[in-house]
Amino acid sequence: MKLYVRQSGQHGNGVFAADSIREGEPIIVFSGPVLHRSEVDFNGYHLQIGQTLYLGPSGVVDDYINHSCQPNSGFRDGLTLFALRDIATHEELTWDYSTAIDEEDFSGFPCACGAPDCRGLVRSFRHLPADVQLRLRPLLLPYLRDLYFPR
Ligand SMILES: [Zn+2]
Repeated sequence: MKLYVRQSGQHGNGVFAADSIREGEPIIVFSGPVLHRSEVDFNGYHLQIGQTLYLGPSGVVDDYINHSCQPNSGFRDGLTLFALRDIATHEELTWDYSTAIDEEDFSGFPCACGAPDCRGLVRSFRHLPADVQLRLRPLLLPYLRDLYFPR
C-alpha cells in the first residue's frame, strides 16, 4: 500500500493514497513505542491504546493521519486501519480520533474536517452523546470496546 505525506487542506500534514484503495482493505498498522501515560509527550504525536497506555511516534506515516467526523478509514479489532469505503488516488486518509481517545481531562480541540455532520470538537469517547458512541462502536479500539460494550 503506497501512502504519502503532504500538506493537508485540513490541518498541517496529512496522509494521502498514492493508489486507489478498496473498501475493506487493510491500509496500515499503527506502530510506535508503547508508553505509560506518565511517559507521553502530550505536545507531540501520541495515540491512546489503553486506559493508561499510549503509542508514541512511529516516525512513519501513521503519525500524520488526520481526524474526520466522517472518516474513510477506521479500526476494527486492533491497530490496523481499514478502508471504510473505496478511497480514490490522492484522496486524504482520515479516521475518527474519538474511537481511540478517552481521557477524562481532554478538553478537545476544534474540528476542521468539513463533514456535513461534523461534531465541531474532537473529544474523548466518554464525552460523546450516546447515539454517537453507539455509531462508533464498530470502529473502537479494543480497550474502549471492552470498557463500554463488554460482551
Ligand atoms: Zn469534524
